[in-house]
Amino acid sequence: MTAVIDRAAGASAQSPASGLVCRNCGATYPLGAQHACFECFGPLEVGYDPQRLAAVTRAQIEAGPYSLWRYAGLLPAGHDPATRVDSGTGMTPLIRADRLADRLGFTAPVWVKDDSANPTHSFKDRVVSVAITAARELGFTRIACASTGNLANSVAAHAARIGMESIVFIPSDLESAKVTQTAVYAGTLVAVEGSYDDVNRLCSELSETDEFESTAFVNVNVRPYYAEGSKTLGFEVAEQLGWRLPEQIVAPMASGSLLTKVHKAFKELITTGLVDPADYRVYGAQSAGCSPIATAFAAGSDTVIPVKPTGIAKSLNIGNPADGPYALDAVRSTGGAMAHVDDDEIRDGIQLLAETCGVFAETAGGVTTAVLKKLAESGQLDTSRETVIYNTGDGLKTLDAVSGRVGPTAVIPPTLKGMRGAGLL
Ligand SMILES: *Cc1c(COP(=O)(O)O)cnc(C)c1O
Ligand SMILES: [Zn+2]
Repeated sequence: MTAVIDRAAGASAQSPASGLVCRNCGATYPLGAQHACFECFGPLEVGYDPQRLAAVTRAQIEAGPYSLWRYAGLLPAGHDPATRVDSGTGMTPLIRADRLADRLGFTAPVWVKDDSANPTHSFKDRVVSVAITAARELGFTRIACASTGNLANSVAAHAARIGMESIVFIPSDLESAKVTQTAVYAGTLVAVEGSYDDVNRLCSELSETDEFESTAFVNVNVRPYYAEGSKTLGFEVAEQLGWRLPEQIVAPMASGSLLTKVHKAFKELITTGLVDPADYRVYGAQSAGCSPIATAFAAGSDTVIPVKPTGIAKSLNIGNPADGPYALDAVRSTGGAMAHVDDDEIRDGIQLLAETCGVFAETAGGVTTAVLKKLAESGQLDTSRETVIYNTGDGLKTLDAVSGRVGPTAVIPPTLKGMRGAGLL
């Protein structure tokens, strides 16, 4: 591309990344800020030198920092600790959810990987940690994104931490908590009158302009690096289970990237010998208001037909999901399934997770919990197999989803009589 960004990220001696590979036609390119194949316009992903990956040991990882950077040997950026943007992201709790398991009739353990514990309270801190580190290694001076909300929070926060300029684009109808949680970090925040897909298209156009030559759009021109950050959701679960894979996972889907990268992480753990080979099934969750991937799954189709998103699960509202076909492939090739749930089921899902696990999820976590329930009830997900569900965001980000449904058990005067009157004594 341009002079400012001709230094390849992760090209240092220790980096396992070997280049960018087209997921469609297999063409290869040198590492750098490129996201689409010049041959077929297919999406690019980071390819690795298998020998360098295989050299990574459990002991090395365990001796690393208590953050996602313990997996630097399996990532395309941050090999030199001095270049890492480390906000303490990762190593979030893996909670054994026995009461949820009982409620849903599981005979095998159910676990909740609770990514609301990340610094800006969503899983997006993982992808941003890797993307902003790569952007800095590549010589970019400004960081940007198109966001459904959580990415905006995370990009603005990480930029503030390292003193990098940021410009964040969101649809103008986002939840107010997510707008405030982005604006408070004092970068540039642009609310666009349109859907996420409109915002994303605008960002693609901007990334081609001279004025944005030194700007890394985390989910456009440095997307191959960004996407690799999601692998750490797979690595951590395996390590937290004592270096083995779970039998089933349920993940929410927006673009479908997270789900495909957890699958990629599990495959890498097997090929590098970090875990023993094991069969696992990948399940995908969407909302009824935006279910282009789950709808293609149900139709037995490989073609993801774009939709105009509606509904309360705004963080998942990507109507034209870039990784849809790859998510379908991950789910089909492992024998999993997909489902979608409506807004009331999402609210029920948020409450079910809260009541049984003490975890308050945002709407995306409600989608995942409700899909777990739906797939278990329909028999598509096996309740005798160990299952991990991913909660990707914090309930405080989407309070309105349940604030009308829950409240004080009683309002009383400050007396024993008041307690008696309310039937609580
Ligand atoms: C972005 C996001 C996801 C998944 O996004 P993908 O585009 O599928 O990787 C899941 N949950 C939450 C809360 C998100 O913000
Ligand atoms: Zn190609």
